[in-house]
Amino acid sequence: MSDGAQNLSRRDVMRIGATGVAAAGLAGAGLPVLADDQAAPGKLPKRRYGRTGLEIGWMVGASDWPKELIPRAVHAGVNYWHKAQKWTAETMPPALKAQPRESYYLECVVDRVNGDHSRGKIDEERHYEFVKNCLKESGVGYYDVFKFHFGYHSIAEAKQNPGMVRAFERLKKEGLVKHLAISQHHYNNIGGDMAWEIMHYLADHEPYEATQFFYTYNDRKEVGEWIDAAKKKDIGTIAMKTMGGVGRAAQDQKFTKLLADPKYAGSTPAAAMVKWLKSNESLTAAVIATRNFDQFRENAGAAASLAMNPQDRAALGLLAGYNKGLTCLLCAECVTSCPEHIGVADIFRYERYARDYFDLDRAQKEYAALTKNGASCVGCGDCLPACVQQIDIAAKLGDVHKLLG
Ligand code: SF4
Ligand code: SF4
Repeated sequence: MSDGAQNLSRRDVMRIGATGVAAAGLAGAGLPVLADDQAAPGKLPKRRYGRTGLEIGWMVGASDWPKELIPRAVHAGVNYWHKAQKWTAETMPPALKAQPRESYYLECVVDRVNGDHSRGKIDEERHYEFVKNCLKESGVGYYDVFKFHFGYHSIAEAKQNPGMVRAFERLKKEGLVKHLAISQHHYNNIGGDMAWEIMHYLADHEPYEATQFFYTYNDRKEVGEWIDAAKKKDIGTIAMKTMGGVGRAAQDQKFTKLLADPKYAGSTPAAAMVKWLKSNESLTAAVIATRNFDQFRENAGAAASLAMNPQDRAALGLLAGYNKGLTCLLCAECVTSCPEHIGVADIFRYERYARDYFDLDRAQKEYAALTKNGASCVGCGDCLPACVQQIDIAAKLGDVHKLLG
């Protein structure tokens, strides 16, 4: 932990609770999108996306980015677009339409049906029809990547239910999709397996060519081990939910005051996190939450720059200290110990949407769909020893329930 971070008391960090989010939300909505194209960062590095063979820009773009940002992102080297199925022929960004189709990669995420990612079903026919309809609406001709959104609940399910793979294979035969990938969550809250266990299995037994999963600084060692193993097996790896605590720290005056110390000069937690992620040569790319051009410029600039320097290391240490006791890493380690089977990591993921991405609407919507929310916590404390972040989980669940319930 950095010296500076130790100066942040628990009271300080809890201070940016609901009121902090409200203020941050306003600040986030009002942040300028710069009109200055000159400010575009240098070209992003590209890496091979595993067995797909695609060379993708290190920062993954997303269909929910502000539309003003997309031409600049394309210019900076973003060529892989997550959740591209949301674009119709009308909303497809002109900056992409103007390019040859083979110069950028569109990913279609395919969800379970008849319920959310925990309760929904895999249904070959419905997934097949879904992709066909998206293609009809968008007129893009084909999707480069068919991605199973949220992934399997367990290895057993992957073995027993080939519906997602079969839907992909039928579409591939028709030339409508090219590659198969998965975005895998942990499912120990419903008696399933951890993401890395499932991904290791898929790499050896199923035709998945690439994976996406949670990964941030100080994450569990098994995630890093998966990234190394995937590299050896030529499976693509995209890290998501990478910026834990970055948004809330930026809104915290005590944190920003500490960050003004010369030992952090020229760095920020966001830039340092991006450089740290990029320093892992085995990781293909990262999804970085981006709301406007200023953020994009900071993140892409860091991704295009050289290795971490001492100021970056210090800034990352400051953020790690700030996050202790406050920010969940979404590792799901605590979930197995909860007798109430509360999806603690899911609840704190929704908190992150509110406190770090300033998207309170989305956070509240997702929270409302939970069968067990923070109010189900009986305060037994069984989860506490498991938490590497030393979070008072019961108290935080109560706090998040006030924010999102
Ligand atoms: S304190 Fe709450 S979240 Fe933790 S184990 Fe007990 S019921 Fe589950
Ligand atoms: S509360 Fe702690 S143990 Fe549970 S998911 Fe978050 S960081 Fe991991």
